[in-house]
This record gives sequence, C-alpha cells and structure tokens, in this order.
Amino acid sequence: IYERRFKRSDGTTLWTIVSAAPIVSATGEYVGSFGMFTDITERKKTEEKYQTLFNTMLDGFASHEIICNSRGDPVDYRFLSVNPAFEKLTGIVAADVIGKTVLEVFPDTEPMWIEVYGKVALTGEPIHFENFTKALNRYYEVSAFQPSPNQFACIVKDITSRTIAEEERAKLVEQIQQAQKMESVGRLAGGVAHDLNNLLTPVLGYSELLLNEKIADEIRKGAVEQIINAGQRAKELVRQLLAFSRKQTMEFKPTFMNNVVKDFQKLLRRTIREDIAFETILAPSIPPVKADVGQLEQVIMNLVVNAQDAMQNGGKLIVEVSHCKLDEAFTMNHEGVEPGEYVQLSVSDSGHGMDTETLSHIFEPFFTTKEVGKGTGLGLSTVYGIVKQHNGSILVQSEPGKGTKFLIFIPVTQEAPTSKTETMQSALELLHGDETILLVEDDENVRKLALTILERQGYQVTVATNGIEALEVLALKGETIQLLLTDIVMPKMNGRDLYERAVQMYPHLKVLYMSGYTRDIITHHGVVEEDFQFIQKPFTIRALVTKVRNELDRVV
Ligand code: ADP
Ligand code: MG
Repeated sequence: IYERRFKRSDGTTLWTIVSAAPIVSATGEYVGSFGMFTDITERKKTEEKYQTLFNTMLDGFASHEIICNSRGDPVDYRFLSVNPAFEKLTGIVAADVIGKTVLEVFPDTEPMWIEVYGKVALTGEPIHFENFTKALNRYYEVSAFQPSPNQFACIVKDITSRTIAEEERAKLVEQIQQAQKMESVGRLAGGVAHDLNNLLTPVLGYSELLLNEKIADEIRKGAVEQIINAGQRAKELVRQLLAFSRKQTMEFKPTFMNNVVKDFQKLLRRTIREDIAFETILAPSIPPVKADVGQLEQVIMNLVVNAQDAMQNGGKLIVEVSHCKLDEAFTMNHEGVEPGEYVQLSVSDSGHGMDTETLSHIFEPFFTTKEVGKGTGLGLSTVYGIVKQHNGSILVQSEPGKGTKFLIFIPVTQEAPTSKTETMQSALELLHGDETILLVEDDENVRKLALTILERQGYQVTVATNGIEALEVLALKGETIQLLLTDIVMPKMNGRDLYERAVQMYPHLKVLYMSGYTRDIITHHGVVEEDFQFIQKPFTIRALVTKVRNELDRVV
C-alpha cells in the first residue's frame, strides 16, 4: 500500500492510495495483479494546508507524546514536532530534539514544568501561563492543550514588547498618581496655611496679654490654655498634611472605610470653599475592605476637587460610606460589576452635571473640559486606576444641571484587621473629641446620662438645667463653647429660643436638639426650622456620640 500522485489529462493532480495484491492461480502460479486506487486528493490538500500553516504561523508550536510511569502519571514528553516559529522563538532546533524527550534534551527541567504539563495531560484542560526566560531576555505566553489522549501540544507567543509596554504603562501610572498627590498636597497646604494663620492669632494675642504682669491668675491660666489648645491643633494639622504627602509604598490591608473618611475629612475640609456645604455620612458598623489608605484618600480628594469645580456658585457636597449587597438584578445592568458584598463610597455634588458625551470620556487620561491650566484630565483616570487596583468598580450618575454622584464599590474582605486601632472601629473610641459642649436639659436622669457619656468621650461638658441658666453660662464663657446640646421642650425658655439668643452672641455656635417628641411633631408645630440637627430621646450611647461628633465636624 502506498500513496501515489497522478496527473490527470486536464493537468490537475490526483492523489491516491494504491493497494495492490498479486492474483495467484489455484496451482500457485502468478497470473496478474489486482489494484485498488482510492482518491485522497482532498485529504492531501487539507494536510498540505495544515503543513503550510504549521510552517508559516508566527506562534511557536510544538507537540509531544506523553510518557507515563506505571501508575499512569505523566513523567516526560517526547518531541513529535516543532515548527520553525518555535525554533526561532526558543532557540530549540527541531533536528536536535525530535524523537527525544524533554528531560533528555533539558536534563535540568524543573519538575514544576513536568507537573504543569502533567495537569494538562491528566485533565485535558488547556492551561495558559506567562513565562520570562532570563537567558533570552524575553517574555513568552504559553498555552498548552491536549490534541489527543496521549499527546500534548503547546503554543508559544512572544509577548516581550507587550509586556514591556505594560511595565512602562504601570510606571507611568505610578508617576501620574504621584503627580496627583503633589497637586493635592499643594491644595491642602494652601488650606492648612490659612488655618495655621487662624491658630496663630490667639497664640500671639494671648502671649501679649500674658506679658502684662498685673493680670489675675485665672485669666493667665485661661490664656495659657488657649495657647496650648491652638498649638495642639496646629500640630495635628501639620501631622495630617505630612501623613498625606509622604510617599508610602502601597500597603493593602483590611481597612475600615469609615475610618479613612473620618480621619481624612478634617484635612479635606481645608480645601473646600466656604460657599459649599460639606457633609460626611458614615455607616454605623461595616465590614472592612482590603485597601491602601493613602490611595483611598487620593480617590476621595480627586472626586471632591472635581465636585467643587462643578459648583462654581456653591452647593452641597456629600461623602458617604455605606454597606451594600449587589444582586444580579443590579449587576446585570452595570457592566463590570460582580454580585456580592461591598462597601460603597460615594461622592455627590449639586453641581452642573455632565451630558452623555462628556460622561463617555471622563475616565480617559488627559480628558478635561476645563480651561488650560485649570484641569489636567488626570483626576478621574487616577481614580479609575486605583479603584481597579482594589478590585472595585465605579459608577457615575449625572445629568446636566442635576449634579453628579460617583459611586465606588470595593469588595468586602473576610480578613480581620490586625492593628488595635482598626479593630476598635466599632468601638466608641473613634467618636471622641475634646471640644466644649454646653448641655441643657431639665430632666436630671437624661442630663446625668448625657454628661457621663460625653465626658467619657473626652469632651469638656458644662451643664445647665434650663435656658436661663444656660444663658448665664454662655455670658461667662461662651467663647469656649462649640456646641449647644439642648432639650427642646423645657420650662421657662425652650431650646429653640435659647439657641436664637445664644447664636446672636456667638455666631459660630452649633446646636444639636434633643427631644422625647418625634422630629415630625416638632417641625409640624414650628418649634424649630426644617433642617435642624436632632436626636430623639431615649437615645443610645452610640447615637448620641455619633450625632455630637458629626455636628462638631460639620462645616457651616
Ligand atoms: P480635570 O478635573 O483635570 O478636568 P478629571 O479627570 O478629574 O480631570 O475630570 C475629567 C472631566 O470630567 C472634567 O474636566 C469634567 O468635565 C468632568 N467631571 C468630573 N467630575 C465632575 C463632576 N463632579 N461634575 C461635573 N463634571 C465632572
Ligand atoms: Mg479633576
């Protein structure tokens, strides 16, 4: 049996398999022969096509026979074929290896590779991996699969240039992030400088006062306290600025988003213009995410800066942290988001918003709608990069004239935070403060409770049992009081009237009302204006300290 090519009379080629056998007579004499010709032209054509493909394809291709031990585990591979591209890419010459096994050709082959390919051999599942060959200074991408039960083949791609491009890109991204950080530091430094100036005013003023030897001891003591107070606040400001500007190497660890926002907001405030109402809303207790704190701060910073730019005539800016579970109904409508449990960080503004055309470009590097010198177009691409590094997703809701909301979802981690401060996140320690509060409440039990709670959180608390008493306290040391925490319904003077009078004397005084009546009833009766800060009695410790802290942190 053999294959034979014929030329047809029309000039085309015919491939056949020829099977021939002698015809022998009954007496054993050869009388002729018998031949059968099968047309295999089509098969030959296909084979030739594959041969050409094999020889000319740009990806390296090699096939092996799998050699197994007595237990059937693959232990080595015999080279069956190697194409020219494979020779070129790997430097392996076909003539040297065909018929030999991998271990014969490369006795030093790491058992790992035998095992890796063994997996393909055992499971029949293709694999895919990237490999850097030091000797050749090149990167390869190798896919392996099993074309038949006792064979295995691999395709090798040279991805050196792609890999180098990716590495360069990563370097560039890092540089951009660093540049962004420096830009932010510049902004923050401007804000901090302004604040430091404000803090220096009492320091210089009181120092001058102290030079006068005749002043009473009590006043002297008060002045020194003011100076120390201002000094400490200045120190804290500088510490935060330094912490932010330091180039930290990335460190992904379980982190509470609440803490990130809480710690960063004080610094952030300095960059926010006064015509913008800034509010942070934190979730009471949420699971941690695996994150790099410095990068999350950068995300918040960039979004906040954009939000401000979008509100040239003032407006409202809200940074919110919440815990959410995204189901399939949601993720189906939002490309790139997987169902699961997330911590959501959102930044919303009441600014000019965006049309769909702008929206479709915002994450592109260097895309900006701002004038030259105002925008770099790198803010959102940095945000995008960081969110991706956190395996997160980002969504934007915006309409022209209707404001913008950026929503970032970072997957919840099962890992527990290790450091002490982190684990105390749900503890009340985080809601402490050292501000001075005037507590006005006629009910002794409530008053004592609130006093104990607040003092335990570190606040300086002065108490009054009614409005008249409170006004006396204010007249005496109103300067030092930052927050008025008052019951609404009280004999002699209600909380609202008290605040009205107090705020005339001290315009910066903040107020948090409490009442046993619901918010609705109080508003309905016009006791207080619509958007007042309110806590319903009876309150929990957590509710009280949260409200107090939020109110003190609110920028007015
Ligand atoms: P830049 O702020 O330097 O322009 P960004 O990447 O931060 O660059 O933002 C790109 C563009 O996206 C902005 O120029 C603006 O058109 C738009 N944009 C971003 N955030 C907002 C927002 N909160 N409201 C309206 N437009 C926004
Ligand atoms: Mg920007």
